[in-house]
Amino acid sequence: MDYEEGQGWLDPRIIPYGPLSHDPAAMVFHYGQAVFEGLKAFRTNKEDIVLFRPDQNAKRLNRSCERLSMPSLDEDFVVQAIQSLVRVDANWVPRKEGSSLYIRPFVISTEAGLGVRASSRYSFIIIMSPVGAYYEEGLQPVNILVEGHFARAVQGGTGNAKVAGNYAASLNAQAIAKENNCAQVLWLDAVEKKYLEEVGSMNVFFKINGEIITPSLSGSILEGITRKSIIHLLKDWGLPVKEQKISIDDIVEAYKNGTLEEAFGTGTAAVVSPIGSLLWQGTPMVINQGHIGELVHRLYDTITGIQFGRIEDTHSWLVTC
Ligand code: PMP
Repeated sequence: MDYEEGQGWLDPRIIPYGPLSHDPAAMVFHYGQAVFEGLKAFRTNKEDIVLFRPDQNAKRLNRSCERLSMPSLDEDFVVQAIQSLVRVDANWVPRKEGSSLYIRPFVISTEAGLGVRASSRYSFIIIMSPVGAYYEEGLQPVNILVEGHFARAVQGGTGNAKVAGNYAASLNAQAIAKENNCAQVLWLDAVEKKYLEEVGSMNVFFKINGEIITPSLSGSILEGITRKSIIHLLKDWGLPVKEQKISIDDIVEAYKNGTLEEAFGTGTAAVVSPIGSLLWQGTPMVINQGHIGELVHRLYDTITGIQFGRIEDTHSWLVTC
């Protein structure tokens, strides 16, 4: 679907997958007006095809658009567009337990122009791809590199918006993490390089001395939909999460005094990812002797249980396609 200033969003259509053609001066190539979302469609054990909280993705897409001076979309329309596309062929949603259909809605600026200003034309596009279970062999703890030099996103900059540029800014550190045998980077705040933000494409949680904590939304942390759902579930279970500023020194101290019980990332791709060790200033801090904590198992089983229909969706998080 395309946007034209003065006319609004026009001409929604479903077309076969293929290359896009754009003017080399299309503003997205130069000024980076590009925002995106990521969500999944699941096939439940009753053969229903469902989306997990797609309204939240539509809302976040609009928040990202607003940050980059891009036009907003009707949120109900975004959800309906995803449903329509998935319905084109239900066979796109894999049958194998744990597999799903990854859905990537995005908005880019398309006007040809070299002046630095917001574009007057945009495209809203949705693409999809079947994906296997993140953990084909069952949950596996991951090693994470705490990044003390680069920053991913800055408060007051593109911060918590899901804009392509924030991911471009993360690639260098991500490559260094891989060289250090780490799956992802744990980002610290851009200003003091002291407070924890998030992990690569996940929000982060810790259990320290029986208490569950997660960094409070600082303005440069993506407001994860899995994060929000997990906070909700833990509250239901009588295990409230404290959202607070957490410094890397707090984590080192908890590690040293033996109270760092569990650490995990949360996001659409992996759902819940146990952190086996944190590499900080060249020294690995091994968490829970590298074993997967009880909380990670319970959260993973509950969220995937809801998504695949094994557990009743009491929060009405699922939307049928
Ligand atoms: N942080 C970042 C930077 C991400 O890219 C993602 C994935 N969208 C998340 C956190 C987790 O968000 P969600 O739970 O909505 O997938």
